[in-house]
Parts: sequence; structure tokens; C-alpha cells
Amino acid sequence: MKVAVFPGSFDPLTLGHLDLIRRGAALFDQLAVAVMTNAAKDPLFTVEERVVQVKKATSGFDNVTVITANGLTVDLMNKIGADYLLRGLRNTNDFQYERDIAAMNQFLDDQVDTVFLLADPKYQHLSSSLLKEVARAGGDIDPLLPGNISADLKKRMQEREEARISAHNQGH
Ligand code: ADP
Repeated sequence: MKVAVFPGSFDPLTLGHLDLIRRGAALFDQLAVAVMTNAAKDPLFTVEERVVQVKKATSGFDNVTVITANGLTVDLMNKIGADYLLRGLRNTNDFQYERDIAAMNQFLDDQVDTVFLLADPKYQHLSSSLLKEVARAGGDIDPLLPGNISADLKKRMQEREEARISAHNQGH
């Protein structure tokens, strides 16, 4: 059985991530989406919130599971019996970064093979951090996010803005 892991911060999951999950689910018997707890330093959503979001967005795939993990991806893979690590490539920056990570993972465990899928051109420009920046500035990014997540993002941005205004009014 071919089992793969797709690790990431998913803060939040975008349609670019979801496209990779859809394609990975077609390639592998089982795909575990791993929400990494140690990746993002100041995340917009907690790990628990991200797991709920990813579970909802992937509920239509019966061979996709959502888990949390921290530490080394190769350790996680050994724990769940995965041989393949799925990653997406949007551009040459991703390629250079991912090539080093893949080489390091192979050094740590030579059973692990990283499988790269090129981002769909529609989503090549998409990153969670860019989406957050645009959302913060009031841009409409709904068409780039799964439905449940665009609602969560709007709500969280509003909460953050209210917290900022209230801190400002208290002279902080
Ligand atoms: P990380 O912090 O580990 O890079 P991300 O959540 O940003 O976590 O990304 C997880 C994976 O998804 C990475 O392999 C990344 O290249 C891929 N990815 C991110 N955005 C896209 C996209 N728009 N299209 C395809 N793959 C993407």
C-alpha cells in the first residue's frame, strides 16, 4: 500500500494546497495531511482550528486523513508507515528550498522518497502568507480559499482588528 504524508503549516489551507491534496489522493492509496505544530511562529489559527478547517475541506476524499505532528517528518513517516512525502512546487524558490529538505530527509532516512507536484498555474502565486496580507488589507480573496476557511479568515481578521483598536484605545 502506498502511503504518503503531506506536511505543512496550512495557516490557512488554500485552494493551492487543496489542489495538491486532490492530486495526491489520486496518486496514493492513503494520504495523511500533517498539520505541523512547530512550523509557524505566530500562527493566525491554532493547530486545533487548522485541523478542523482541513478536515472540513477534505471531507469529500475517503483516503485522506488529517493529523498533527511536530519534530522530524521522517519520524512521523516511520510512525504511520508512510514511504512518500508529498510537496508542492510553485517556483524556483520552492524548488531550491525543497531540494535541500528532500536531500536532508533522504540522509536521515533513505527509505523516504519525496514526490513533487508542480502547482496548478491557477494557484502558482498563492501562499498562505500572501493571502493573509491581502485579507488584512481588506482584499477579497474568497475565490482562493475553501468556503469554510474564507469565513473563518474574515472572522479572525475582524477579531484581530478589534483587539488592535481596543489596545490602541487603552494606550498600549
Ligand atoms: P510550509 O510552512 O511547510 O511551507 P505550507 O503550508 O506553506 O507549509 O505549504 C505546505 C506545502 O504546500 C508545501 O509543499 C508548499 O510548497 C505547498 N504549497 C503551498 N502553496 C501551494 C500552492 N499554491 N500550490 C501548490 N502547492 C502549494
